Amino acid sequence: MTGKSTYEELEQRVNALVKEALDRKRAEAALRESEELCRVTFEHAVDAIFWQDLETGLITNCNRAAERLLNKTKKEIIGEDQSILHPPDKAAYYTDLFSRRIEERGSIDEEAEVITKSGHVIPVHVAATVTWVRGRRVIQGIFRDITERKKTDEELRRGESKYSTLVENSLTGIYIDQDETIVFANNRFAEIYGYAKEALIGMESWRLVHPDDRVLTGEMRAKRLSGENAPSEYEARGLTKDHRTIWIQRRNTRIEFQGRPAILGNIVDITKQKEAEAALRKTNEALQDFVDVVSHDLKTPIISIQGFSSRLFKNYQDVLGEKGREYVQRVLASARRMEVLVSDLLALSRMGQVVSKFEDVQSLEVVRKVISAVQDRIGAKEIELVVADDLPDIYCDGERIYQVFENLLVNAVKYGDNAGQPRIEIGYRDGGAFHQFYVKDNGPGIDPKFHRKIFEMFYRLNGAEEIEGTGLGLSIVERIIEHHGGKVWVDSEKGKGATFYFAVPKARVEITAPEAGLAPDKRGLRSDDHER
Ligand code: ADP
Repeated sequence: MTGKSTYEELEQRVNALVKEALDRKRAEAALRESEELCRVTFEHAVDAIFWQDLETGLITNCNRAAERLLNKTKKEIIGEDQSILHPPDKAAYYTDLFSRRIEERGSIDEEAEVITKSGHVIPVHVAATVTWVRGRRVIQGIFRDITERKKTDEELRRGESKYSTLVENSLTGIYIDQDETIVFANNRFAEIYGYAKEALIGMESWRLVHPDDRVLTGEMRAKRLSGENAPSEYEARGLTKDHRTIWIQRRNTRIEFQGRPAILGNIVDITKQKEAEAALRKTNEALQDFVDVVSHDLKTPIISIQGFSSRLFKNYQDVLGEKGREYVQRVLASARRMEVLVSDLLALSRMGQVVSKFEDVQSLEVVRKVISAVQDRIGAKEIELVVADDLPDIYCDGERIYQVFENLLVNAVKYGDNAGQPRIEIGYRDGGAFHQFYVKDNGPGIDPKFHRKIFEMFYRLNGAEEIEGTGLGLSIVERIIEHHGGKVWVDSEKGKGATFYFAVPKARVEITAPEAGLAPDKRGLRSDDHER
């Protein structure tokens, strides 16, 4: 020590020394602390961690999770080669893959498999980087067990493949249209349009639509996409690859596809059905012409039979004698029956041919007219007739509703015979969305077994032979009501009278299909025909 050291100098140096010692202590403590932290973190990490010496390839350390993963102790792991981690048949592959990754990128990010002590294979994800540990280069690999994730992936794949099998094997064509482009199509869709599936993906969808229906389909798509209430089901013509026109029935739904709005469509090729319909329409038209001609041709001789028989009866009564007169009466009755039959047949065949006239009709007025037309027969049988006065106005084809009331009332008169006091009631019930009318008699009624049968063409119950009729009246009623979008049924038990109900919608919906028309002379004929 040179020079004089004052007390202060000494004190300063001591202080500095003490500080230095303290700093070192603190630094050592901090180091120990951080080392401890590292050790604990390493030791208790959820993922398995392995250290591998880069040069020797031997495992130099591992944590508890690693022990758990392999079901081995550290003793059994440390000091071994990396290859003991993997199933023997894949060990070479993974060893090679990992060292290549380290060489190329300095890190590993791969899926692999490890094997446990008992030979159980576990899928893992391996993330590894190179670090320095005590002067040596070490690969630190973090192994995460991905058994669960793999299982979920597998389930998802199985689920998806189930749906895609379903979609691919569907009998309906299924497609997705986004930005007016086909972005998905199943086999059936491709088959319907005659394209290969690959050729359809990316195709502008208007190419698949017949030129005359492009506006329609465009509107439908726009409405669907804007969320507007467009009918989700409609028919339009399509165009195949070889320019054939086909009829397509489609049902569309708006969906989100890859985060954006799209249209999911189901299609059915109804070309054959449409062709069959057209053929049927032609046949029906031909049949109609035939029926018109035949009935006209039949009517003429019937009228002359009636005319001459009447004259024979009137002018030659004495010559004929009693037997002769009876025969002529029978001829007249048969001719009348034939006339009714021809008219009924004609009425039935015209269903679906004549365009109907829908208008607001006072049903009470219609019923009054029907009653006055059959008044004589009601009077002859001394029937008590009750008509409700609350019959409403309805939107319907008035002439045909007349026909319905007439057929039901005539049946009630004809079949409603009652040993006691015959009674007929015409009434109305409010049926919610429907107007519900009924014609009720207190006659012999109808066994429920026959409640459907009596609406079939030409079907007549046993015992009806005595009473004039063709078995067509209720068929006509049913057709007319169906054309109005309604229903007709009977409520009856044998011996307890019969109530015939019919219901027609209150809504003013016009049935657009051309439909039921009646022979013009039908009504006149029935009301003139006093014997009915
Ligand atoms: P038609 O009166 O010309 O025989 P319908 O089709 O009108 O033909 O009736 C079919 C059958 O239903 C009738 O033959 C009759 O047996 C039975 N029927 C119809 N209305 C009644 C009724 N109100 N009471 C009992 N039976 C009836």
